[in-house]
Amino acid sequence: MRPTHLLDAAGLGYAIKPVCECGHSVAFDPMGLWWHFERRGWDDHLPKVRLRFWCVMCRSKLRRKVRPIRLEVVDISSNDFTLPRPDERTWKKYSRSLR
Ligand SMILES: [Zn+2]
Repeated sequence: MRPTHLLDAAGLGYAIKPVCECGHSVAFDPMGLWWHFERRGWDDHLPKVRLRFWCVMCRSKLRRKVRPIRLEVVDISSNDFTLPRPDERTWKKYSRSLR
């Protein structure tokens, strides 16, 4: 089963890795990333999620925001960039709605 939303990715334990055409990529911890989107009311459907990212390398070089060419779903690793996660209770409430 492959995740289609950030909430699925967090529930299934996959990190999300936007990949830029310049080759730069960073994998994100799914739970912190999902919570970042949830708190802002952003759509966590993965094709929409891609459009929220831009490459920091291209930003500093070209001085414009370059969207990643794709999002990869990868195994979680200890090197993943981790945004603040929801507390346990909040996570339980949301993750119950997972199928
Ligand atoms: Zn780039």
